[in-house]
Amino acid sequence: RLISAATQSAQEEAIERALRPKRLAEYVGQAKIREQLSIFIEAARRRRDALDHVLLFGPPGLGKTTLAHIIAAEMGVGLRQTSGPVLERAGDLAAMLTNLEPHDVLFIDEIHRLSPVVEEILYPALEDFQIDIMIGEGPAARSVKLDLPPFTLVGATTRAGMLTNPLRDRFGIVARLEFYTPEDLTHIVTRSAQLLGVQAGHEGALEIARRSRGTPRIANRLLRRVRDFAEVKAAGHIDREVADQALRMLDVDHGGLDLMDRKLLSAVIDKFGGGPVGVDNLAAAIGEARDTIEDVLEPYLIQQGFLQRTPRGRIATPSVYRHLGLDAPASGGQ
Ligand code: ADP
Repeated sequence: RLISAATQSAQEEAIERALRPKRLAEYVGQAKIREQLSIFIEAARRRRDALDHVLLFGPPGLGKTTLAHIIAAEMGVGLRQTSGPVLERAGDLAAMLTNLEPHDVLFIDEIHRLSPVVEEILYPALEDFQIDIMIGEGPAARSVKLDLPPFTLVGATTRAGMLTNPLRDRFGIVARLEFYTPEDLTHIVTRSAQLLGVQAGHEGALEIARRSRGTPRIANRLLRRVRDFAEVKAAGHIDREVADQALRMLDVDHGGLDLMDRKLLSAVIDKFGGGPVGVDNLAAAIGEARDTIEDVLEPYLIQQGFLQRTPRGRIATPSVYRHLGLDAPASGGQ
């Protein structure tokens, strides 16, 4: 089951923090981003400058927050964390900015959800390390300029397209995180198993990796559920067979799709004749928020070639019919 970051339990969050790689060298996959960042970080350190502002985008659970912490650790600076919806008033952001130490990282998650007044404050802060704040009210109100220490903004968003252009233009480094390969995820599962003291063989780790929607957060979560199953049914050892049985019990199918994925795909086929169907109609049909479909569900289904996005709406591809064991419609059905 997919759980959004906001609804995760405190315990899950604590485990997630414990499993989080702390340095760039431990960060698995995303080779291009790792290489770029290591060069930019090294250069900034040599110049004794703050690192340029960094925008990270990609679906939830791919490692954006982890990377923000790693950037701060590699720069040897502190990190302050907040998120777009939390910063309601201009003063909230001003307070954070004026409390930064030189070269600190300010991490803003869900940066596409900043309110326009807060975004307005951010522009001069990013560009000139200055903010204009209003003091007083009515006719006596005046604007005061404050200097800020040089800092690095790391912004994270699920979709770069949701940022306003002026905000996007102020990031010197823009990195798009990709879904992870089964090999990378096997590496992550094996590392997490060691940290958690779980016995998982290579084949067991690979099976979990293959069925984790290309997403480290899901891989780590499935590992913990499979561990429970293994402890009760298999003396704690995770091999391919145990992983497979546990994942079936969790409704993760052999291709790695979960209940929500199958519900969405079935709706496209059963309720909309295979599409095209607009995302709002689809959201209503499966009782999910449009954002969940666009941010969480469909990126992976599109990447796997199950769903196609066209100007007229989403279309189920022939591989969906095969996957769900259905007869594909005669041509013209699309
Ligand atoms: P996001 O901020 O993109 O939603 P997170 O950074 O919170 O994702 O990552 C979720 C979890 O996945 C982390 O706790 C971490 O354990 C794991 N993780 C993410 N990326 C990697 C990676 N490249 N290597 C190892 N583990 C990772």
